Amino acid sequence: MEYNGQLSPSQTTDILRGLGHIPLKKFGQNFLIDANIVRKSLELAEIARGDIVVEIGPGLGTLTGALAEAGAKVYAVEIDKRLFDFLTKRFCGNENVNLINADALDRPLAGLPDNSADFKIVANLPYAISTPWLDRVLPGRLPQKMSLMLQKEAALRFAARSGSGEFSPISVFLSEAYDIMPPHKVSASCFYPRPAVDSMLLPLSRKHDARTFSQRTREIMRAVFSKRRKQISTIAKNAGEYSQTLLDWLDSVPDLPRNSRPETISNRHWRELDKIARK
Ligand code: SAM
Repeated sequence: MEYNGQLSPSQTTDILRGLGHIPLKKFGQNFLIDANIVRKSLELAEIARGDIVVEIGPGLGTLTGALAEAGAKVYAVEIDKRLFDFLTKRFCGNENVNLINADALDRPLAGLPDNSADFKIVANLPYAISTPWLDRVLPGRLPQKMSLMLQKEAALRFAARSGSGEFSPISVFLSEAYDIMPPHKVSASCFYPRPAVDSMLLPLSRKHDARTFSQRTREIMRAVFSKRRKQISTIAKNAGEYSQTLLDWLDSVPDLPRNSRPETISNRHWRELDKIARK
């Protein structure tokens, strides 16, 4: 049977039954079965004919099919061999769909050619890898737009502002490079099987002056945030190989109160750390 565009709930369960496939929890296999949310995912990334789109975890290809139908050229990476084989058959002969069978943590841009034009990312992410995957995307070529389905807690962490309990290094890296739109709540009934956690769709749009932090700054910030209950002056003194850089940074930002906790430090100050850590 041929499937065009996105899949209906009954097509999704029929395909799974036909494949003898029980959705795997370890791969976060909660398939989208809601046409409005599929449409919204494309709309938030402003998908138009001719766009180049990376997709993580195409599953049975419901977003992939909708993207292809909208005229996008898709690069998708799926870890599950059985689903990959199904997708290969489903999109056989469609030169706008490029699939690879790999771990998205090894191929975070799904095999997108290095010389490709600007691109977007649309993905209903496997929730277990959303943060490490994004960590691999952000230092590289930045997509123009992203529409990411996330576990609610991750969406709130990604969109957090300094001063909130969820503020973390990934919030800084993202907000330096992207305008972060308010996340859109998605009901568990939009997936098969229903996930046990809440989900949100997060739209991101690259800034004109998008900034990325060096690898070293990112490592230092992660080390600092791992002590989020401590004051920054104490963290700096006890940060081992990062101590000197942190102490130099504190000298360069006299307006930063020494008793600040990492989550209250603003992007402006983290940017100063990046300057010092790059020297
Ligand atoms: N895109 C499909 C949809 O919306 O119905 C499926 C989304 S499902 C939440 C996540 C998909 O990611 C599954 O197909 C799963 O097998 C795949 N996956 C899980 N871990 C992965 C990884 N590390 N790399 C690539 N794909 C992965």
